[in-house]
Amino acid sequence: MVCTQNQEKLKPMNVKLSPHELRYKTFGSFLKEKFGYSVYKIGLDAGFNCPHRNNSREMGGCTYCNPKSFSAPSADPSLSIPEQIKGGMKLLKKRYKTEKFIAYFQTHTNTLASAEKLRRIYQEALEFDEIIGISIGTRPDCLSDKTLDLIQEVSRKTFLIMELGLESANDKTLNKINRNHTVKDFTIAINKLKKRSIHTCAHIILGLPGEDLSDMMITANYLSFVGVDGVKIHHFHVVKGTDMGKDYYKEKIETFTFEEYMAVVIKFIEHLDPGIIVHRLVGDCPDELLIAPKWNLGKSQILKSINDEIARLNSWQGKCLKNS
Ligand code: SF4
Repeated sequence: MVCTQNQEKLKPMNVKLSPHELRYKTFGSFLKEKFGYSVYKIGLDAGFNCPHRNNSREMGGCTYCNPKSFSAPSADPSLSIPEQIKGGMKLLKKRYKTEKFIAYFQTHTNTLASAEKLRRIYQEALEFDEIIGISIGTRPDCLSDKTLDLIQEVSRKTFLIMELGLESANDKTLNKINRNHTVKDFTIAINKLKKRSIHTCAHIILGLPGEDLSDMMITANYLSFVGVDGVKIHHFHVVKGTDMGKDYYKEKIETFTFEEYMAVVIKFIEHLDPGIIVHRLVGDCPDELLIAPKWNLGKSQILKSINDEIARLNSWQGKCLKNS
């Protein structure tokens, strides 16, 4: 499914077309608008596990997952939450000259404990004056009613984002990558969160094995339809210490070249509702864990190239949605 409408008839919604940033709704600009200053996230590891990797790894976990590949430098489960926050703040204050932060419970499944334990852990982060919100990463099938009650309670005190892994809106793909949940599970979870007015963000991966452009555009359309507040877009990469990493050398697992990815991610944004906040445009993995693709480009270089290409193509978020 590609954009086939008459582009001349489409108008970007409230979008000025000169600065790159305004061609899609970035997380940075959303935070600046909401708080009036720049805010950065501090990645934390609260020592949770993942239910999908537990049970003697009978279920095996997602075939692409090595939690070490998406943990922030500040995330160290041997340290307490306050210690991790202090370390993260020190780093980010120096790097970005910023004073306000969101505590991001990132590693594994951060709702996998009793409501009492979760309340204590989240509260530890909120004790800091510099922490103006929290973000909680989890699976769509790990939100019990008690947990939802707690999250709603915390969201009344602070800005709170629930980040749920979806990866693809195609059940066949979810099965293939062993996500062990369905698209319907995600829909149910998002609806429960929306009912409680909780801000949501979906994680998705572009370029998963077996998916073509049309599958990925279906994911963009689904996100627009289900009404998430934000999306984190990652490119598919093969990482050491994963099932896919083992298969990479045996099977022909393909990954995008940078040019291919640029074209796909721009198309994805064109199919996304303009109200959805784009938290990120590309995945991240430490060099020592990365098997493929090796683009040999820094993150700022990657973002600049994508932004330049969006401008060159006169593209914008929602360009391929019907002007209804
Ligand atoms: S991606 Fe998330 S749900 Fe899947 S195995 Fe890793 S931590 Fe668990």
